[in-house]
Amino acid sequence: MTAHVEQPYAYLQRELVEPDWTRFPGWREITSTQWADAQWQRVNCVKNLKQLREVMGDLLTEDFYADLERDQAERATMSMLVPPQMINTMVPATQAPMPAAGAAYTAAFLADPIRRYMLPVFSDRRTDWPSHPHATRDSLHEHEMWAVEGLTHRYPTKVLAEMLPTCPQYCGHCTRMDLVGNSTPQVAKLKLAGKPVDRYAAMLDYLQRTPSVRDVVVSGGDVANMPWKNLEGFLDNLLRVENIRDIRLATKALMGLPQHWLQPDVVEGVGRIATKARERGVSLAIHTHVNNAASVTPLVADAAKAMLAAGVRDVRNQGVLMRGVNDSADQLLDLSFSLLDGAMITPYYFYMCDMIPFSEHWRMSLHEAQELQHAIMGYLPGFATPRIVCDVPFVGKRWVHQVDSYDRELGMSFWRKNYRTSIEAADTEALSRDYVYYDPIYTLPESGQDWWRARGDADADHALAMERAAASREAAALAVG
Ligand code: SF4
Repeated sequence: MTAHVEQPYAYLQRELVEPDWTRFPGWREITSTQWADAQWQRVNCVKNLKQLREVMGDLLTEDFYADLERDQAERATMSMLVPPQMINTMVPATQAPMPAAGAAYTAAFLADPIRRYMLPVFSDRRTDWPSHPHATRDSLHEHEMWAVEGLTHRYPTKVLAEMLPTCPQYCGHCTRMDLVGNSTPQVAKLKLAGKPVDRYAAMLDYLQRTPSVRDVVVSGGDVANMPWKNLEGFLDNLLRVENIRDIRLATKALMGLPQHWLQPDVVEGVGRIATKARERGVSLAIHTHVNNAASVTPLVADAAKAMLAAGVRDVRNQGVLMRGVNDSADQLLDLSFSLLDGAMITPYYFYMCDMIPFSEHWRMSLHEAQELQHAIMGYLPGFATPRIVCDVPFVGKRWVHQVDSYDRELGMSFWRKNYRTSIEAADTEALSRDYVYYDPIYTLPESGQDWWRARGDADADHALAMERAAASREAAALAVG
């Protein structure tokens, strides 16, 4: 007989539900056929306040729109673009009655995890430290590592190909906010100079000339915004490059606009490419970006399963850890089990939110991430237990427990690496240097916050950071000795 053991997390198999979109005044008459149509979804994306009002009718109060408008003007690093599929997962009311229109609905909308990162409002953001002093537009320095325009060569054997600068949905916390999407009042976006056809040819040429690269993340933006025939043409050529053994297609649209990946011509095209990949001994996978269990609906599961049936080796999820979106072990495990049980998507990574401007309210500290990693261990199969990683500038992804030393008072963690990026060929100290990542300042003890308030310039910060790293390493060595 199996005894019932109480656990910190209670696993429950949940049935996926497609929330009823006709609850929104603007979509009362929308049929299932329209909803399933990728073109209808694209045309009816919410891109501005007027369109949001048309969908929501009298559900939201005027305060909400003023809050959103102010954010768009003063804080947003991404312009507004939310597919109906994603709006429909906000305040889904699948387990509780719908809150009444007006103040109650607005409160529920403000608290909604999907709304928090897809439609950020001014009052979400911190006013004490809206941005970390070391936040930057291209926080991972990807452009500095472009081997050719749009091709980031950061790790020894793998590259990231930024095929295009657009997506079917724009996420408020986008790490590529420097390049992706339309300019906002706060951020004039970088423009790719080369024509797509020339850029793709230069990427393929680089890969042919660089046999040490075996793995290509074909990304953007989101590859769902490339006409399929162009994407298939590029993949076809990529499969001819002898050294390539892994291809990963990056598409948040598998969740945000699953209708795209369910179109018969796209499914057939993926089937053709997957067959060629298999014949050539190449693993073709899809990487998507889901942050909360509410996003995993039957349509998302259908799209993932259609890709697997077409011959893709795996569909994996890379979410982003964000306060208010998925900041508890329960939320991370609910999401992971919904992906795995319901949609056959493998939970893979949760990234700590990158240090882009105005992201402090989403970012969590390293020790919070470490606690979450500890709390989610042991429930999922090992292969599907997501790793929480910190993408350390100039280093790359590091599991949160790999930190070399950590100054909790100033919120500085120090990391080492074991390979050189493409810009460090002549850098003799690349492998012995400390690389720093910063916790959000408002999470620090008062003494640490005081230090940041009185801080000097960036160079002085850096010198101090290095001193603290050396001291903390010495202390650790003494403790061991
Ligand atoms: S889908 Fe990815 S690339 Fe596009 S806006 Fe969201 S996070 Fe950025």
